[in-house]
Amino acid sequence: MKLKLESTTELTYNMEVSENDLGNVAPHWIKDDEVSVCQLCSKSFTALKRRHHCRACGRVVCRKCSSKKSNLAYDNNKPNRVCDKCFVILKNVDGKVVDQKVPKGVKLMNANDPSILSRYLQKSMDRGKTWNKRWFVITKEFAMYEFKAHHDIYAIATLPLPGYQVIFPVDNIENVFCLSHQQKLPPTYLQSECTASRDRWLNVLKKMVNLELSEESNRNSTHSSESSGSQNAEDGCYKTS
Ligand SMILES: [Zn+2]
Ligand SMILES: [Zn+2]
Repeated sequence: MKLKLESTTELTYNMEVSENDLGNVAPHWIKDDEVSVCQLCSKSFTALKRRHHCRACGRVVCRKCSSKKSNLAYDNNKPNRVCDKCFVILKNVDGKVVDQKVPKGVKLMNANDPSILSRYLQKSMDRGKTWNKRWFVITKEFAMYEFKAHHDIYAIATLPLPGYQVIFPVDNIENVFCLSHQQKLPPTYLQSECTASRDRWLNVLKKMVNLELSEESNRNSTHSSESSGSQNAEDGCYKTS
């Protein structure tokens, strides 16, 4: 059985509904807890700034970015709340294309950006006193990107991996490993939810810090005997839900 890798391709905050199908098919709604910021204007959601779903593309956006309605064919042409981006497409309005806004200096991830590994991990910057759940993505450029939530449109931090040391085990805490750098303090503590996930991260990270691409980065090529055989069925926590 081959290791499932779907989770590595889910950087798709971009529309899953194609422009031609927009309004004709009900979109898959992105889950509320998979976004921490509006997927159009990138302002943080709060108790007051609430999440709304675009009925055309399924994005999670703020009220300001979804103030308009459009008649949607899949809902018997009834008017439905849509995001500003879909509104422009659906109405075929001339005028400015609504662009996603990201704060200066942060990286906007594209749906097509290839990733090697991506997963929620717990992260601690104080030796395990406090932990935060973050979505991490490792790319072929030997960088690890940190997102507050899975479908956020921009990364809140980037770690260039070469030069780091991967430390494991750490203080005998289960499934915890650490990335440390002589010039960059404090070290980053990470925790996986299961042993199989931990081993996979360790395997990839240990190569990336030495500027080696792991086999997982060549998903399209034929699997080497090493990568296809050993790590598979038991890796239950990698099956997409
Ligand atoms: Zn917004
Ligand atoms: Zn939309």
